[in-house]
Amino acid sequence: MLPEKSLAWGQSKSCIRELAAYGTARKAEIGKDKVFDFSIGNPSVPAPDCVAEAISALLKEDSLELHGYTPASGRMSFRTAIAEDLNRRYQAGVSADMIYVTCGAAAGLSSCTHGLLLPGEEAVTFAPFFPEYTVFTEAAGGKLVSVLPAEGLQPDMAAFAAALNEKTKLVIINTPNNPSGVVLSAESLQSIGDILRRAEEKYGHTIYLVSDEPYRELVYDGVQAPCVMHFYDDTIICYSFSKSLSLPGERVGYLAVSSRMAEKEKVFASIAGAARSCGYVNAPSMMQRVIEKCLGQTADISQYKQSRDLLYGGLTALGFDCVKPDGAFYLFMKTPEPDAKAFSERAKKFELLLVPSDDFGLPGYVRIAYCVSPEMIQRSMPAFKLLAEEYGL
Ligand code: PLP
Repeated sequence: MLPEKSLAWGQSKSCIRELAAYGTARKAEIGKDKVFDFSIGNPSVPAPDCVAEAISALLKEDSLELHGYTPASGRMSFRTAIAEDLNRRYQAGVSADMIYVTCGAAAGLSSCTHGLLLPGEEAVTFAPFFPEYTVFTEAAGGKLVSVLPAEGLQPDMAAFAAALNEKTKLVIINTPNNPSGVVLSAESLQSIGDILRRAEEKYGHTIYLVSDEPYRELVYDGVQAPCVMHFYDDTIICYSFSKSLSLPGERVGYLAVSSRMAEKEKVFASIAGAARSCGYVNAPSMMQRVIEKCLGQTADISQYKQSRDLLYGGLTALGFDCVKPDGAFYLFMKTPEPDAKAFSERAKKFELLLVPSDDFGLPGYVRIAYCVSPEMIQRSMPAFKLLAEEYGL
């Protein structure tokens, strides 16, 4: 006998990865430029020059130190630099000893679910949501409860308040959002904070707010993602350098526990213990030092805005119903038929690879990852036109 859930997660490929694998095979078959692959969220702009420069400089240093273990929570100079960066940019008031360097946001999130949830407790999140939240929550013995959105995919605060109960231990938010690109406004965060404070009072225990923010810097038209710590004291931020520095394969991120959290040392220790139990010894040592030298910089993310504008403008002109994304590099489009999987299959006829939304907890949409060249978006428009015509748009 093997653990049923682990086996199921290992055997069921995520539909994103399945579509991406189909895309790779199809490109080999008919040519790279004939397939319009919008499946996966891999950054399409190179890492900034500071990354290569830092690597070259570091390779001249002592290799034992460079490639050796670091403390589990990360190099102290890196943690200090992260705290200073957060305090300078957001007046977050975090201290270096409340920063834990992780192997990307994924490890931060799973350390939070394992470090905070007791078996049977619930994590509440807003649909549409990153599908791995289900895995991270259930692996920790918890249950993921999702709240359907209001108009424009904004959070439905009444439904959120109604989803909280005595079993709720944490709430996971994701801003800017994968897959919708929605950025939570200060007003929304204020409401979430108010609702959570009332629920803490009512149920007599702490409810932790875990803010998943790998796309924090990917925002457009002057929109900013406000610092969640300002709205709720029991907040933990999970961040990643995967998207802002275009380093997803290097696996470095961090979590930051609010200095205003009542039992912050205990919570930090429990999350650190969970990371230990998951076997995260430390985030890659050399990359911690590289990123420390690049803090505050980003890849040239202006290309994503150009791609967003081309895609949103092109699709709405064809009659598709889309939510304009303020951030991240995904566009969520309503499918003209209720079955998103059937729509995604039909799109394949025109070599368009669009991820059906079912795994994001909200049927009836496709996610279009526009972290691709603007030139590919332009070339894909005739295919989208044919797809629109199939539906009489
Ligand atoms: N959270 C969201 C919303 C994501 O989209 C991703 C990756 O795409 C992650 C977490 C995981 O990020 P990382 O690759 O840094 O672990």
